[in-house]
Amino acid sequence: MAEGRIIKALSGFYYVKSNDNLYQCRGRGVFRNKKITPLVGDMVEFEINGPNEGYIMEIKPRKNELVRPPIANINQAIIVSSAIAPEFSAKLLDRFLVLIEFKNIKPVIFITKIDLLSEEKLEELKKYKKVYENIGYQVELLSTKDSNYSPNIGLYLKNHITVIAGQSGVGKTSLINLLDSSLLLATGEISESLGRGKHTTRHVELLEVEGGLVADTPGFSALDFNEIELEELPELFPEMRERRSNCKFRGCLHHREPKCAIKEALSNGEIEEFRYEHYLDFLKEIQTRKPRY
Ligand code: GDP
Ligand code: ZN
Repeated sequence: MAEGRIIKALSGFYYVKSNDNLYQCRGRGVFRNKKITPLVGDMVEFEINGPNEGYIMEIKPRKNELVRPPIANINQAIIVSSAIAPEFSAKLLDRFLVLIEFKNIKPVIFITKIDLLSEEKLEELKKYKKVYENIGYQVELLSTKDSNYSPNIGLYLKNHITVIAGQSGVGKTSLINLLDSSLLLATGEISESLGRGKHTTRHVELLEVEGGLVADTPGFSALDFNEIELEELPELFPEMRERRSNCKFRGCLHHREPKCAIKEALSNGEIEEFRYEHYLDFLKEIQTRKPRY
C-alpha cells in the first residue's frame, strides 16, 4: 500500500501526492461507514490501480481539522495584519492568536504595508514586534509591494503546512500571489496536467511552495470564541501558560484570585498590559456569550 497526502479535492476525486508523484484517487466505501470524509491535508494509505490513479483505503489520525477552509493537519498559520489601511489593531491580532493557539497551530505574525509608514509609525510597530517576540512569536514587518521590505517567506514555509489568516484588505491575496509565482516555477508541469483551474472553480488546494504546503484559501474567517471554554482561555496566552503553575489556585483565571503569578508579572512589567486587557475582554466575551443549543 502506498502512502501520501491529499493536496486537492475536486469533483469527487482526491489528488494524493506521494514521492513526487500525483495520484487521482477515489475514496473507498469504508469512509461512508465510519462517517469520515477525506480532507485536503489528510495523510492516507492508498492502493495504486493504474498510472497515477488509485483508491484511498485509510485515513491516518488527524492532528487537527479546520472547517474554513476544510483542511486537516495544518501546523502553521501566518496571521497577516496591515500596519495601515486597515489600521493595525493589536486586539484583532490577539483574537487571531487565541483562535489559532486553540487549534494547536503555530502562529506567525506578518505585518504588511510597511512601505506606507512614517518613521514615527514604524517605530511604534517595532515596539509591538518586540512585545510579540518576547512572548515567543516570530514577527515580520514587510511589504508585498516594495522589495526593500520583503522577507524570506520560504524560510517560514519549508516543512510546514500553512494557512494564511487575516481580515480583509491586509494583503493576503498579494502575499499568496507572491508565493504563487514560485509555485508555477516549481510545479508547473503537474498543475498543467491537472488543469488546476484555481480561478474558475471553488475548491481548496494545498500549493507546494518552497518545500512546504500552503492553503490557497485564507482561514479563520469566523472570529468568535464560541468553541472556547472559560478555563481554556488562559492556556492560549503563552506568557500566562508558562507562569500559571506559580499561581496559588489551580485553575486560576488570573482575574480576581489572590496570589496570582500573572498579576504579579503584570505589575513587574513582565507581562504587557495591553495583552492582559485583551485577555480580560475575551474572558468577559466568553462569560457573557449566549448558551449554545
Ligand atoms: P486581502 O483582502 O487580505 O487579500 O488584501 P489584498 O492582497 O487584496 O490587498 C488589499 C490592498 O492592499 C490592495 O490594493 C493591495 O495592492 C494593497 N497592498 C497589499 N499589501 C501591500 C503592501 O505591502 N504595501 C502596499 N503599499 N499596499 C499593499
Ligand atoms: Zn493566576
